[in-house]
Amino acid sequence: LRILGIETSCDETAAAIVVRHEDGRGEILSDVVFSQLDEHSAYGGVVPEIAARAHVEALDGLIEEALSRAGVSLDEIDAVAATSGPGLIGGLIVGLMTAKAIARATGKPLMAINHLEGHALTARLTDGLSFPYLMLLVSGGHTQLVLVRGVGDYERWGTTIDDALGEAFDKTAKLLGLPYPGGPAVEKAALTGDPDRFQLPRPLVGEARLDFSFSGLKTAVRQAATEIAPLSEQDIADICASFQKAISRTLRDRIGRGLARFAKEFGHLDVGPALVVAGGVAANQEIRRTLQALCIEHGFRFIAPPMKLCTDNAAMIAWAGLERLAEDMPFDGMDVAPRSRWPLDANAQTLLGSGK
Ligand code: ATP
Ligand code: MG
Ligand code: FE
Repeated sequence: LRILGIETSCDETAAAIVVRHEDGRGEILSDVVFSQLDEHSAYGGVVPEIAARAHVEALDGLIEEALSRAGVSLDEIDAVAATSGPGLIGGLIVGLMTAKAIARATGKPLMAINHLEGHALTARLTDGLSFPYLMLLVSGGHTQLVLVRGVGDYERWGTTIDDALGEAFDKTAKLLGLPYPGGPAVEKAALTGDPDRFQLPRPLVGEARLDFSFSGLKTAVRQAATEIAPLSEQDIADICASFQKAISRTLRDRIGRGLARFAKEFGHLDVGPALVVAGGVAANQEIRRTLQALCIEHGFRFIAPPMKLCTDNAAMIAWAGLERLAEDMPFDGMDVAPRSRWPLDANAQTLLGSGK
């Protein structure tokens, strides 16, 4: 089975062709991504209207390129899968309407995919991971610890009650005068900084619930910066290093509890336990080392797919469609609508703050 995947939920326009072989193995035939970073960087964040227009301009060409790189025509695909939420509504409309047009014109079935499900199932495409496992999604828009029990069977164990982790990096960078996106800039500055110079808060550490909170950290950074202004390059480096240390310690506590809970619930299984990371923040080396060490302590496998598949891409959307097809899950009708909010866990109550 061969699927065309389309992703347009945020600031990446992407198209991919992915196959699922008889033995269940996935293979990416093509995976093209156009990142709109240049369009948004002057504004220090993603501008929804600019993103939607950029998707309109880029998508057709990207689909053609994905098809030609894979060496297949539209007639040779078995279905069309597109992200239909959660995300910025303008972009979602562009991707889903394009998928509908292709499905209608070719007579192929349409699959409306939850973006978070794409992230959640990626490790099965890259590592053939079996259920159940834990997934930590840390991106610009999401911070979630999710129990992945099966295709379409997810339980959100923790989420942020305010800012996403990537958002905290971006906002901190902005108030220190570092460029957008903030994550790479903060990480680089932290390399030459003293992580013990500032005592920054470690929100929710010690609490039994598995949620996250990062807005207080950003406020503490602002206070520290105001107190010692004007900032030297060394001050900025010290703040960044202290910020990353606070995040690492927070993740150790939060994720450590999640691993312990997983071991308690699934300790009897013969597949070894595993933690998968996804999202742009997974590029951060200190955060990776922290999670890796934590996994070793708890006897978990630590799985970090290649960065290209950790950040937004269409291969994961195509793969989620293939997994759904393999489970005989229903197709979507032409009346399916994009949803800016769409929790992965159908039972998740709409949480405080950005409960995406
Ligand atoms: P989504 O809708 O999936 O949340 P997104 O575009 O916001 O999409 P990604 O593209 O997965 O998310 O990741 C972007 C985020 O990752 C940004 O907030 C960026 O600052 C952060 N990031 C990237 N590299 C690093 C890094 N080295 N350290 C920390 N954060 C990073
Ligand atoms: Mg992005
Ligand atoms: Fe994403």
